[in-house]
Amino acid sequence: MKISIQFEDGSFKEPTKIVAVGRNYHEHIKEMHSEKTESPVLFIKPTTALCDINQTLKIPENMGLVHHEIELAICISDLCRNVSAEQVPGFIAGYGLALDLTLRDVQAEAKKKGLPWAVAKGFDGSCPVSVFKKKDLQQVQNLDLSLKLNGIQKQSGNTSQMIFSIPELISYISGIYTLLPGDIILTGTPSGVGPLNAGDSIEAEIKNLVSVKTIVEHHGSA
Ligand code: MG
Repeated sequence: MKISIQFEDGSFKEPTKIVAVGRNYHEHIKEMHSEKTESPVLFIKPTTALCDINQTLKIPENMGLVHHEIELAICISDLCRNVSAEQVPGFIAGYGLALDLTLRDVQAEAKKKGLPWAVAKGFDGSCPVSVFKKKDLQQVQNLDLSLKLNGIQKQSGNTSQMIFSIPELISYISGIYTLLPGDIILTGTPSGVGPLNAGDSIEAEIKNLVSVKTIVEHHGSA
């Protein structure tokens, strides 16, 4: 099974992992009644979480609420280990839009018990991604993010509101996980997260980067 992500020039990359960042926007920390942390909160999604956001999204049934989290996604270009924030721009292949789909009830239970988030964050199809595009770092540090559900605005924010900037994040992550070409970083979500249901339509946009429309179904439905 080969898993790849696509660039707008038609080229592909094969990620070995997705490293996601939690609690990177103040308003989202507030809505989750979470607390700001001194270093970025990291978790991993397996590559089998990846799917094409332009295809119907298949969400689990009978596992409680599935929340949408719109995020700027970054694709790594070269092996990246212990890089400084200043070096980070040289290790980015491109940018895209991702949804960090989250089993919120499962996650809440895990948090309560002090258990990992692997199920809540890593299930099959939990990381729909758009096409990736080459941009300069400064072009993506002030972009509006927007997610509409059935035509109603749910999430909005701007990448400039990140608590840890893109260079800070990748520098920090590269000190923990060696990043390989194709690996994907999810940079956190702004506020307005909420549940998805079968039949929902999603319009998600990172302005001046990419906009997508998709619909939601349960796993197992035709
Ligand atoms: Mg997230």
